[in-house]
Amino acid sequence: MADKVNTLPFFYGNITREEAEDYLRQTGMTNGLYLLRQSRNYLGGFALSVSHSGRCYHYTIEREPNETFAIAGGKSHRTPVDVIDYHSQEMDGLVCLLKKPCNRPKNMQPKVGRFEDLKEKLIREYVKQTWNLQGAALEQAIISQRPQLEKLIATTAHEKMPWFHGTITREGSEPRLQNGSRTNGRFLIRQRDQNGSYALCLLHEGQVMHYRIDRDSAGKLSIPDGKKFDTLWQLVEHYSYKPDGLLRVLTEPCQRPDGDIAIGRPPLPRDHPALGVLQNAADGILSKFIPGRKKRPGSRPSVTDLNPYETRVPNNQAASKEAMPMDTEVYESPYADPDELRSSTVDRNQLFLEDGELGSGNFGTVMKGIYKMRKTEKPVAVKVLKNDDNNPSVREEMLREANVMQQLDNPYIVRMIGICEAENLMLVMELAELGPLNKFLQKNKQTTVKNITELVHQVCMGMKYLEEHNFVHRDLAARNVLLVTQHYAKISDFGLSKAVAEEQNYYKAKGHGKWPVKWYAPECINYFKFSSKSDVWSFGVLMWEAYSFGQKPYKGMKGNDVMQMIESGQRMDSPANCPPEMYDLMRTCWTYKADERPAFTVVEPRLREYYYDTAQ
Ligand code: AMP
Repeated sequence: MADKVNTLPFFYGNITREEAEDYLRQTGMTNGLYLLRQSRNYLGGFALSVSHSGRCYHYTIEREPNETFAIAGGKSHRTPVDVIDYHSQEMDGLVCLLKKPCNRPKNMQPKVGRFEDLKEKLIREYVKQTWNLQGAALEQAIISQRPQLEKLIATTAHEKMPWFHGTITREGSEPRLQNGSRTNGRFLIRQRDQNGSYALCLLHEGQVMHYRIDRDSAGKLSIPDGKKFDTLWQLVEHYSYKPDGLLRVLTEPCQRPDGDIAIGRPPLPRDHPALGVLQNAADGILSKFIPGRKKRPGSRPSVTDLNPYETRVPNNQAASKEAMPMDTEVYESPYADPDELRSSTVDRNQLFLEDGELGSGNFGTVMKGIYKMRKTEKPVAVKVLKNDDNNPSVREEMLREANVMQQLDNPYIVRMIGICEAENLMLVMELAELGPLNKFLQKNKQTTVKNITELVHQVCMGMKYLEEHNFVHRDLAARNVLLVTQHYAKISDFGLSKAVAEEQNYYKAKGHGKWPVKWYAPECINYFKFSSKSDVWSFGVLMWEAYSFGQKPYKGMKGNDVMQMIESGQRMDSPANCPPEMYDLMRTCWTYKADERPAFTVVEPRLREYYYDTAQ
């Protein structure tokens, strides 16, 4: 959303109310002249400034929990632009109709807020420190979890600020402000209790004023009767440019003394002005703040975990508590740890099978187990080949699958841990305990579209990786996407997969096998030709399955009928309640000619854009 809004000529970005008024004035202040800007107090929200009868009026466009936008108390719309379109027809509470956009002066880009500017750096540093990731694993984590990470950073960034002093008392705060420069407007924020209540302590003419900051039931922070904010750093930004009821503006952050609270904090840099606090955070405090923090496999760094002051997590931050893929034990390969010996064989003595099956196929069963490695114990899924001397081809098939899997290493692909040759041939894999995506969605109809998009995007990232590494999957379907958690999907079942030559980039099957025809592109069926482009077609079908909550595609139809339907140019209808953008993308994946069909390198960014739009 933010990206699209950025391109609007009347969007000014992170400007203040006064700046907005200046622009309206410069453009003539005609009745109904309007501009859009970023809200400085509501995360992901906007503000609409309108001139009427020589005055300026400002309306907050809030981003609502269900991802719609509305002027407080007004009708909900899908985008802020829809809000504007609506109010150019209907006043509905506004001072006048929106008549004319006040466009940005030539060559002026929307103003990027200080936080926006630094977000990138903070996110990167945060992911590096928290999960000890680097290289491709770091990049993939940021791409797949950006909306969640942005929220987490936005709502916890204050902890990294030099003006945030944690749970010190009122009495404790006063000498801190009075020692040193005694500049008017010197300030700090302390935490009052565990319920998300804080105090802003401000030096004014040698005296310390204490302003309570309370959190309301919606999680918004405010000084009594003051403006409401989503985050403390937004509150500080606001009162740094405008007193707005305080005795004076905030000028100089009072530096948190060395090593005072919580985890051994290193000395903080001195004398940076209030307006530079975020820059300082990005430039080093964050990285020093969690020194050498190492990932504890399986531990979940919830907001509380990361917060040395044990802040209670308010309801509106619940999203940041959801386990991210990086919180699980299967985000990185077990062999990413250099202390673990990389080997394609698993010692039977180190493998412990549990009772009960995870699933089964014609080769045998899939069991849950534990694999004892040098340093850790990993829960694993073990494909156990049934002893069937009459059918050596199943054994070969399994070894072929193992061979492909061994060459892949991506967070969104089930990794093989090794082959174990014992009482049976066993393929030891990472465990994705929630099982196939189609079954999960059939049983969990309350899963949100946002959640489905998150999962489908992860599958697309895994497929992009396969495409880049010249592998074709040939059996991509919702049944072959396994869930580690409700927010973490992995592609599995490489039984039909093939490595393809870079120059030729397709695999030519020798004949028609037992094929999942409903997932196959026309060229697979007509010419036995398989490429990443035919995987894209299957991905479109997988998307259809996901947005229809695990329904069977082309329900009740025979393979031949499906082929005829495709040849005649028809395609499946959109699943009920599927976002039109996503149905559009499916239709693009079902482009008849492989040459004209987009590659995963094109599909993934499109999906990503939509995912960020809806999830931020
Ligand atoms: P497959 O023949 O590879 O599709 O496996 C058959 C079934 O076993 C799947 O549908 C899953 O229910 C289960 N299964 C396979 N691999 C795993 C895994 N790595 N983690 C958890 N369950 C699995």
